[in-house]
Amino acid sequence: MSFIVNLAYFAAAVLFIIGLKQMASPVTARRGIIWAGWGMVIATVVTFLHPEVIGFVNYLLIIAGIGIGGGLAWYTGKRVPMTDMPQMIALYNGMGGGAAAGIGIVALMGSYTMNWTIQFIAVAGVIIGSVAFSGSLIAYGKLQGLIKKSLRFDMQQKINLGVLGATVLLGIIIGFSGAEVNGTLLFLFVLLALAFGVLMTIPIGGADMPVVISLYNALTGLAVGLKGLVLDNAALMIAGIVVGAAGTLLTQLMAKAMNRPLTNVLFSSFGETPSGEQEEVSGSMKEIEASDAGVMMAFANKVIIVPGYGMAVAQAQHKIWELTQLLQERDVQVKFAIHPVAGRMPGHMNVLLAEAGVPYDIIYDLDEINNEFKTADVAVVIGANDVVNPVARSNPESPIYGMPILNADEAHNVIVIKRGKGAGFSGVENHLFYADNTRMLYGDGQKVAGELIASIKEMG
Ligand code: NDP
Repeated sequence: MSFIVNLAYFAAAVLFIIGLKQMASPVTARRGIIWAGWGMVIATVVTFLHPEVIGFVNYLLIIAGIGIGGGLAWYTGKRVPMTDMPQMIALYNGMGGGAAAGIGIVALMGSYTMNWTIQFIAVAGVIIGSVAFSGSLIAYGKLQGLIKKSLRFDMQQKINLGVLGATVLLGIIIGFSGAEVNGTLLFLFVLLALAFGVLMTIPIGGADMPVVISLYNALTGLAVGLKGLVLDNAALMIAGIVVGAAGTLLTQLMAKAMNRPLTNVLFSSFGETPSGEQEEVSGSMKEIEASDAGVMMAFANKVIIVPGYGMAVAQAQHKIWELTQLLQERDVQVKFAIHPVAGRMPGHMNVLLAEAGVPYDIIYDLDEINNEFKTADVAVVIGANDVVNPVARSNPESPIYGMPILNADEAHNVIVIKRGKGAGFSGVENHLFYADNTRMLYGDGQKVAGELIASIKEMG
């Protein structure tokens, strides 16, 4: 029987890996999710039919777990708007970390026979899983707007280090306790690990949250992999390793895209100048009407569109695609420039544009298109802010200095579509909006895109 179970786990693992590979491109990403989903179905069904492989046979609890967990995930997954996806991911990821920690706790409570190596692996899994759990919940709270401030206080890093040290010390004692783990000690140990996750996350600013979530994702993967070792379960090991490796790579990529070393993300604030004051900007914001902006675009040779978080809020992607087609009919070359951290999750803009039907061959990454802005007649910035802020290039004092940005300011003309004077995610004033070649087109992204379409259609 165990041969069949292992074969099924192997098939599930293969499906996870194929799924992950397909998620690398927007063309195949949807299919990739389905493949990986089937892998999960196989792993769950096999474990359900043979619960003895995890040494736990209580069908009532298993059915209740699948029912409540699956039901909530189905309901929330269907309802969540795209703009709230990052916090949803934080929440789900936290649940994964919590589940891994839970398995470790049950193991340490004596439900499994373990040698001391496995006992230490269980301890490590509890620490990592608990930190990923409580840290992800704080990340969720921040992105959902439930926690508005980044809490910083004196000696914070020393206190954090102390809590981590105490957690590890208790872990070592528990690791050496054999089958006789003291319940109070275990309780304290878990509490400290959870507290460390909270303490580590509360000082980190909102703009760094995606990197943090990705890091916790990697930690959850690691915790799950360690639990696979504790339970001697190949599916958990492989799934954990895949998630852990993917999360680590994503964390690195995002930190690089924001030009922020991971230590800097975790231990220093972002979006605040040392004095807490905004830098003075010279010049003024100059407004333009949709009809004039429409003419400017219609008579251009080349237009580069830079979408950002505001396009997602406005759900303007369909109208933007309609606008693009109208321009193409007039022989205007239109390209899309995507910043790696535009929006609120990696690939956010690619997903929206794919949903609207924009062909992939006119969508370019930062590296591919940044040199082209100087040859563009018009750069249309719709709902993007931080990712086109030239201070990241020019002002070493700025908190976003060094973050690679799209060089929209180098286009002959820049049209910025946004509702008002709202700041970007980092809260840093955007000098592009004050530039001589920039015109502000105020209004909701979808509404303004509609007006641009109307103005171009009027030209016939
Ligand atoms: P920003 O958050 O910097 O700016 C978005 C802009 O959109 C705002 O200035 C806002 O101005 C405007 N806006 C909001 N709603 C609308 C609307 N309905 N119509 C038109 N405009 C609107 O977005 P970017 O995409 O430029 O940058 C992303 C930022 O988020 C970066 O700082 C990044 O580090 C961070 N981040 C990235 C994540 C990722 O993985 N991609 C995840 C989490 C954070 P106004 O209110 O005036 O309309």
